[in-house]
Amino acid sequence: MSQMKIETKCLHEGYEPENGEPQAMPIYQSTTYNYQSTEHIGQLFDLAVEGHMYSRISNPTVEMVEKKIASLEGGIGALCTTSGQAASLISILNICSAGDHFLAVSTIYGGTINLFGVTLKRLGIECTFIDTNASPEEISAQIRPNTRLIFGETLANPALTVFDIEKFAQIAHSHQIPLVVDNTFATPILCRPMEFGADIVIHSTSKYMDGHAIQIGGVIVDSGNFSWDNGKFPELVEPDESYHGVRYTHDFGNAAYITKARVQLMRDFGAYPTAINAFLLNLGLETLPVRMERYCKNAQIVAEFLDANKKVEWVNYPGLASDPYHALAEKYLPDGCSGVMSFSLRGGRDTAIRFMDSLKLASNVVHVADIRTCVLHPASTTHRQLSDDQLAAAGITPGMIRLSVGLEHVDDILDDIKQALEKV
Ligand SMILES: *Cc1c(COP(=O)(O)O)cnc(C)c1O
Repeated sequence: MSQMKIETKCLHEGYEPENGEPQAMPIYQSTTYNYQSTEHIGQLFDLAVEGHMYSRISNPTVEMVEKKIASLEGGIGALCTTSGQAASLISILNICSAGDHFLAVSTIYGGTINLFGVTLKRLGIECTFIDTNASPEEISAQIRPNTRLIFGETLANPALTVFDIEKFAQIAHSHQIPLVVDNTFATPILCRPMEFGADIVIHSTSKYMDGHAIQIGGVIVDSGNFSWDNGKFPELVEPDESYHGVRYTHDFGNAAYITKARVQLMRDFGAYPTAINAFLLNLGLETLPVRMERYCKNAQIVAEFLDANKKVEWVNYPGLASDPYHALAEKYLPDGCSGVMSFSLRGGRDTAIRFMDSLKLASNVVHVADIRTCVLHPASTTHRQLSDDQLAAAGITPGMIRLSVGLEHVDDILDDIKQALEKV
């Protein structure tokens, strides 16, 4: 059944029980796997045969979830990680070494900005942050001979800018480098970046995919479309001395990237999720299409309410016809723009904090994309480490509030916002 619709894939991909087998995806909580012969295990170590060896590299339960997510995104393979941060890190390190360079859009998640701008810099990998609205000429001018990829976020957390995937894919491909897209907020239900030319898609599965605030996780998905054998990616083409001269493009074809990420980087870094976490993530995936539909519907109503309120200075939600990213949203997110929006109240930082502290239903948590409505003040939390210039480039003002609309009845969400607005 390869032509299944996405709602059906969310329920049936990855695990198909045989006669008499458990209906629910089983949890294989085992660190290791039993083989009859030393010879067989030796072959596993040489990557000559397929199979699980050790749960730092693969596990049957996690593998089922990887297959499901790869299918949802339209990729050929996926690798789950212990967090979204680990997914970003491994997606870059898989093709960048000290001395390499890459481009990232400046309106991306604050944690990713720290990773790219500070920690990767210490490893000798340089990132240039670029304006998402820059022209193809301006972007191309930033590409150097050692530039290895371009990175952007479909729906930016928390600036809510919409990434012009086709524009960036064309520029990347004309320079023979891949486009990596963080699709966390959109999820494959609202946008599948590979359909617009993205080569690698990553997620923090801690957000909508999980949805219930019960597991931290990430995933990397490979489209299998990028031709790595162009002289820029020797680590994928030339022999890997740590595997007796395995050559990823030669030996694994279009699965070269995702195979190397698993057998080389996951082996060495050890950021693989447990079976139980994959099981919990799968529960979220099963209901993702139903939840996304309702998040979008509730958020559209809340965004329109805020936009019409005199105490509100501005609202960023690409579902609003007046939003600067509305046209891009119509192209990339035709079914809705998720439950997340950001807005600012007249009066700046202090008013924002008073409003947030007055909310009764909405929780004040360092989280987003949960089933429950939640709020956060980016300038004093997720983006606290950023300088004023970086805050401005990331589209964050001191008074900005990030609101993640949940699945409560929209009337109750609105009532809560109304009573808190009366207090400011
Ligand atoms: C939360 C988030 C991350 C980081 O994910 P963790 O699972 O918290 O490590 C990366 N990208 C985006 C867009 C996010 O929202």
